[in-house]
Amino acid sequence: MSRPLIARIDTAALAHNLGVARRAAPGARVLSVIKANGYGHGLLRAARALRATDGYAVLTLDEAALLRKEGYTHPIVLLEGFFSVDELPEMARLHLRPVLHRADQVELLARTHLEHRLDVLLKVNTGMNRLGLPPARAAEALARLREIPAVAGSTLMTHFASADESAASVAAQLARFAPLAAQAGAPVTLANSAAILRHPATHGDWVRPGILLYGCSPFADADGPDLGLLPAMTLESRLIAVQRVKRGEAVGYGATFVAERDMNVGVVACGYADGYPRHAPNGTPVVVAGHVCRLAGRVSMDMLCVDLAHAPAAHVGSPVELWGASLPVERVAAAAGTIGYELLTALAPRVRVEET
Ligand SMILES: *Cc1c(COP(=O)(O)O)cnc(C)c1O
Repeated sequence: MSRPLIARIDTAALAHNLGVARRAAPGARVLSVIKANGYGHGLLRAARALRATDGYAVLTLDEAALLRKEGYTHPIVLLEGFFSVDELPEMARLHLRPVLHRADQVELLARTHLEHRLDVLLKVNTGMNRLGLPPARAAEALARLREIPAVAGSTLMTHFASADESAASVAAQLARFAPLAAQAGAPVTLANSAAILRHPATHGDWVRPGILLYGCSPFADADGPDLGLLPAMTLESRLIAVQRVKRGEAVGYGATFVAERDMNVGVVACGYADGYPRHAPNGTPVVVAGHVCRLAGRVSMDMLCVDLAHAPAAHVGSPVELWGASLPVERVAAAAGTIGYELLTALAPRVRVEET
């Protein structure tokens, strides 16, 4: 038997979660965000599972070119636009839609001869202060775009800093965006997963779900299943050893876990080189043979250890779920001081992936 660690991708869950986004934002078209290798689920696998979407959003020309090569004719948005003007002819040829986020990019586009017209998105900085033009500059940039013969159409875009935790912050960003959008008469896109689920006023013409498609909640106060989402990735393995550890003895590197009683410790084939977070502390949940158990000791490169008190019948070969259908990745992430996004996208290339 080979190493038992497998990331199982439930493609029906992805399709189901797309339906959740559609029902939450019934008036909007959906741009499914499949950057970062489909949030760790595989770019082409995610694209295929989500093919009922209205469009895709990725980061790079290479990702978009691969989608075109595979026959996807959907609108494809490039979330960081072009990094060099050399990319523009290919973007136009492939009918990709770059996001323009600096005023100089509008000028660069104006000065580049293109054989094909292209649609663009103009990103407006409404308070996140990462990418985008200030609202006061966006109207003139949009007017300029409308003069460029190679530009077929422009969509106004913004991105929320705190849609997962602050309605006031969403309202403040919306207040900066709305007058511009009203005046421009262009299509708009604002909402990420959190805004789709909790801020209907932001839905606009296109919504941009990412994390929710993968069944993971963007909110700290709810897990995916609480929101009707189905986790699309289950990371599963097996026990490859069981140790009897005496009271007072330690487990793992640095002896950070000391047994308070005689106990059984299960050794799981999964470590930080697989993408499991090394900072997960003692007590982080791990499901062994259907029982929620507690991580014991430091996560090592290829293995981690579990207190088997809650799974007394567990033995070598017992199934283990690190996260997924019965243990939301959000719980593991919260224990490790991070978010589900990071764990999903950090799945290591060495992990075998199987589709169900
Ligand atoms: C990644 C990304 C999204 C998706 O965000 P989620 O929180 O995963 O839904 C939406 N818009 C932009 C601009 C992004 O970069």
